[in-house]
Amino acid sequence: MSKLINGWEVVIGLEVHAQISTQSKLFSSSPTVFGADPNEQVSFYDVAMPGMLPVLNEEAVNQAIKTGFAINGTVNKMSQFDRKNYFYPDLPSGYQISQLFHPIVSNGYIDITDEDGNSKRINIERIHIEQDAGKSIHDLDKEHSYIDLNRAGIPLMEIVSKPDIRSSYEAMQYLKQLRMLLRYIGACACNMEQGNLRADANVSIHKLDTPFGNRAEIKNINSIKFLGDAIDYEIQRQIYEVESGKTIHQETRLFDSRTGETRTMRSKEDAADYRYFPDPDLKPVVLSDERINKIKSELPELPSVKKTRFVEQYKLTPADASILVEERKTADYYEKAVKASRMPEETSKLIANWLIGEVFAILNKENKEISDLAFPIEYIAELVDLIVDKTISGRIAKTVFANMNENGKHPKEIVEELDLAQITDPEIITKSAKEIIEQSPKQLEQYKSGKTQLFGYFVGQTMKALQGKGNPEVINSVLTKLLNN
Ligand code: ADP
Ligand code: MG
Repeated sequence: MSKLINGWEVVIGLEVHAQISTQSKLFSSSPTVFGADPNEQVSFYDVAMPGMLPVLNEEAVNQAIKTGFAINGTVNKMSQFDRKNYFYPDLPSGYQISQLFHPIVSNGYIDITDEDGNSKRINIERIHIEQDAGKSIHDLDKEHSYIDLNRAGIPLMEIVSKPDIRSSYEAMQYLKQLRMLLRYIGACACNMEQGNLRADANVSIHKLDTPFGNRAEIKNINSIKFLGDAIDYEIQRQIYEVESGKTIHQETRLFDSRTGETRTMRSKEDAADYRYFPDPDLKPVVLSDERINKIKSELPELPSVKKTRFVEQYKLTPADASILVEERKTADYYEKAVKASRMPEETSKLIANWLIGEVFAILNKENKEISDLAFPIEYIAELVDLIVDKTISGRIAKTVFANMNENGKHPKEIVEELDLAQITDPEIITKSAKEIIEQSPKQLEQYKSGKTQLFGYFVGQTMKALQGKGNPEVINSVLTKLLNN
């Protein structure tokens, strides 16, 4: 079903630039560490000194091959680098090396869930490898601009979708899925604030059964929320323009996150404007079957496959499984915990609940990663085991958990030290319950005369007398007996 706005169908294609995780730049040995002082990571090649020649970083190629498999694409055994000519102050050579005619990957896809909860396939046209440009800095000085070339020559993958996206929601889902995949395979760190994952959104509108409209390309969006906001603004702008009788021209626009608006940057160049031609300094990239197959065989289990496995193997709901597989590290921690349990068949679901509930809550609150927890993840398994074997109640478990998080002690040790083990002995519980009943003649009378909701009062008081350690089921059955004869 299409989603029409005022009778208009929205058509979106995304071009995503992902910085490839490598030690050095695409064609030089300069390092790629984020946050270095300006121009600290620049070689003669990066500033385009005459006579400097590019040497291809094979690790960057391997990462792109891996990404090709992760998006179900075809890895091309032959690809080639081309020069894309344009003049920017932060591009010393006057051209960017990219892959126009023969990209390294063709034809993949990513499946997303749309706003109606349906699965939808977004096709990917290509992935090509290219160099990043440097950065011009205009706000340091009134009269001069500065240039930082640390980023010049950093390896990027450009992942180009087909115009299959139909709403801002779908665009955000697509980018989230892509980010998750890139992180899983370790091809890109995907810190959007650091600019190592950026999206260009191509947006157009048209009436169904007519050709696509002209698109505006909104450049360099660096957060998922901004992507949604920029697209939503652009859709409204285009509908307004067209409905007031104007035409949309192909152009490049910028999104201003402070105003939430997009504005014209330049009219869009066509490929011909860039005078592309194969880079004479670089041989075609020819990949052996052996190399391709090795990379394919080393690919980690991808999130969609992992999710299905978690649902089957650990009896999780698809929603819980989705949350746990979102980050590979979290999924690994979950499995490590389940393995540590004495009765994984009975605890796997509860361990998932504890991770998603209590553990995520402290990670959020304390702004930590799962690897920074004060206790080993196996302790969560032990804690849940203690609940399931009835040593402690779920309520007491929260106390144990809070302790564990403070001092990193083993849950059993905490239970012993603080004397938290659950009281299940009916005799002890009966003794406490009798005392409570004796001390509450008024409530007893009301209860006997039909105010049965007071049962909860007796449960609460007995539990309190037992310092919260009474087994709730035993308390219930003891009180049922005592109060109803
Ligand atoms: P270019 O290389 O000039 O940027 P491409 O044809 O490679 O142009 O397309 C770039 C992006 O624009 C792709 O993601 C594609 O899906 C998207 N796109 C193409 N046509 C449209 C359109 N009419 N509306 C929205 N997006 C489009
Ligand atoms: Mg483009």
